[in-house]
Amino acid sequence: MATQVRACPKCTKLMWVKDEQIQMLDENTISMTCPHCQQTVRFKLVTVGANAAGPKMGH
Ligand SMILES: [Zn+2]
Repeated sequence: MATQVRACPKCTKLMWVKDEQIQMLDENTISMTCPHCQQTVRFKLVTVGANAAGPKMGH
C-alpha cells in the first residue's frame, strides 16, 4: 500500500496515511490517529478501479 495524503474528517487538515500508523478495521476500512487533532479517524479504502488489482507500476 502506498503512502497517501488524506484530509482529516475531523479537523480537515491534510495528513499522511502511512502503513505503520494505520489499523485495518476490515478489508475496506482503515483507522488512524490524526497527528493534528489526535482523534481517531476512519477512512474507507476506495481502491476499486483500474489500478486496484493491477501490477505495481514503477517504484
Ligand atoms: Zn485531524
